Amino acid sequence: MSDPILLTPGPLTTTAQTKAAMLFDWGSWDNAFNAMTASVCKDLVGIVDAQDSHVCVPMQGSGTFSVEAALGTLVPKGSKVLVPDNGSYCKRIVKILAYLGREAVVLEHSEQEPANVARIDAALAADPSISHVAQVHCETGTGILNPLAEIAATVARRGRRLIIDAMSSYGAIPIDARKLAFDALIAASGKCLEGVPGMGFVIMRRAALEGAAGNSHSLALDLLDQWQYMQKTGQWRYTPPTHVMAALHAAIDQYQRAGGLAARQARYQANCAALVDGMRALGFKTFLPDALQAPIIVTFHAPADPAYQFAEFYRRVRDQGFILYPGKLTAVETFRVGCIGAIDPAIMRRAVAAIGAAINSMGVRAAA
Ligand SMILES: *Cc1c(COP(=O)(O)O)cnc(C)c1O
Repeated sequence: MSDPILLTPGPLTTTAQTKAAMLFDWGSWDNAFNAMTASVCKDLVGIVDAQDSHVCVPMQGSGTFSVEAALGTLVPKGSKVLVPDNGSYCKRIVKILAYLGREAVVLEHSEQEPANVARIDAALAADPSISHVAQVHCETGTGILNPLAEIAATVARRGRRLIIDAMSSYGAIPIDARKLAFDALIAASGKCLEGVPGMGFVIMRRAALEGAAGNSHSLALDLLDQWQYMQKTGQWRYTPPTHVMAALHAAIDQYQRAGGLAARQARYQANCAALVDGMRALGFKTFLPDALQAPIIVTFHAPADPAYQFAEFYRRVRDQGFILYPGKLTAVETFRVGCIGAIDPAIMRRAVAAIGAAINSMGVRAAA
């Protein structure tokens, strides 16, 4: 059986070379493995030009573990976090803060509206007790891109700290730590770097991390403890995801050789354009206007035709080798198609053809 093409934002389709990197058993105490960790961390800091100010702290688990680790490590007990909310990953941050017992001030937005810089500015001006802003860069729930540079400038001007969930944008949409101030930026192995899932990492302003002693609610998720142990020993604290690290190392190697961020961004933009053009030709409508759409994942309205039903549609597309993603919206029925992973526009056009064949075979006459 050949691998399906994963049109999902992690896990995603990886190259044969990345998969092959996992066919080796690394010892977690071994110098070669420690050197690999150090090299990956150095590259991860470099991708956002943060080598002069920030350090990389890797964390076992899916991306959410790193989001929770960053919030728990950096937000002191008794402080308040502003969360501009325009989608499901913003809501997840609010939920994490509730678990942590940290107060959240939620700025509700519609899911078709980018985080509003003026409202963020006003909320910070109105409440001096807000210490941090937690901002999702690309809200993967819909695929909307938030204006990170403007938000970062406002947060800095108001003297507050910024924590960025850049899970689905890191490596594909430029972020320059020399121009954009943040205390933490969170991403993971299995998104735009095209590694396999299993670890996250947080790019942390060194001084903010060093000042975070005693904050964390959790031993396992304490990024300061993780970092200090790594500084001292070169090793991960607790069992590392060795095969995931090896795959990420190989994936970063391919990323750099293919031309780094600019090349990755260009390929994803071409994937997104091929997808959207093809889907519109079939009659589908995108949930977001093009100007707000990040080239990461696209939300489409489900056809209104009564012959359409997601589970059956999914099965018929899967039988042709493509894995789609359900929608994450409560108000309208949608489905999502990822543009990220080791895929190119030719594959996107084949995916569109598979989607067209699926709706035809279901008797769906109008895709809109
Ligand atoms: C993928 C993702 C996460 C992490 O999700 P996990 O399922 O825990 O890997 C967090 N935020 C955003 C914006 C994401 O795209």
